[in-house]
Amino acid sequence: PALRADVVTIFPDYLAPLRLSLIGRAARTGILDLAVHDLRTWTHDRHRTVDDTPYGGGAGMVMKPEPWGEALDALVPAGADPRPRLVVPTPSGRPFTQAVAVELAAEPHLVFACGRYEGIDSRVAADAATRMRVDEVSIGDYVLNGGEVAVLVMLEAVVRLLPGVVGNPASLTEESHAAEHDGLLEGPVFTKPTSWRGLDVPPVLLSGDHGAIARWRREQALERTRRVRPELAPAPLEGRGLEGLT
Ligand code: SAM
Repeated sequence: PALRADVVTIFPDYLAPLRLSLIGRAARTGILDLAVHDLRTWTHDRHRTVDDTPYGGGAGMVMKPEPWGEALDALVPAGADPRPRLVVPTPSGRPFTQAVAVELAAEPHLVFACGRYEGIDSRVAADAATRMRVDEVSIGDYVLNGGEVAVLVMLEAVVRLLPGVVGNPASLTEESHAAEHDGLLEGPVFTKPTSWRGLDVPPVLLSGDHGAIARWRREQALERTRRVRPELAPAPLEGRGLEGLT
């Protein structure tokens, strides 16, 4: 497989959508070797306890280190080479972006640790760092109940980059946030019919003039990026590429 991915969670069913659509097919065709593990497999008490009260007080519970330590020992043998990457979703992590998705898609083995409650005892990441590269990642500036949905988001962004997953590889470079498009947002798209409810497809798209179409798309992408996400837009005076013509 191009990528082995292990997901550890107390809610394996949450990851069921990974069996659907393009990611499901990638797993069935052997591009992706995906395994979802129940953290409670690595508990030993009758109640299969995974959480406890926080030291120092405060609201909520914290995930205990022991089951996590055993889980990671089982999934990543000591001395594994190359060292797998442990992705820990957390709102306090570095932002997940298309560039991070590209980075992760180049890895042979990813392990995802889904936190719940107030997160995982910090020593788990410290201990894992002795044999894995630990990457704490946030999918956005908001708080979810658990890491499962964040892992769905990240895996979907990563797996579609693996060769053979998306039918036409050009569609990966012709979209928002692609480095090939300077990280710009994609402009509007249209399909048949040419006129619908009094709204016409921009004539340039019907012109057959590929140069004019490329310029129009670039202008639309720049306009949209400046309007919606100005921090992603190139500085106006940089005058790079077609921007100088607009
Ligand atoms: N107490 C933590 C804090 O303030 O940083 C929040 C814990 S949150 C309620 C529970 C779990 O959801 C986290 O351990 C993490 O796995 C996941 N999570 C929540 N928001 C997330 C985000 N924006 N990105 C990635 N994971 C997130």
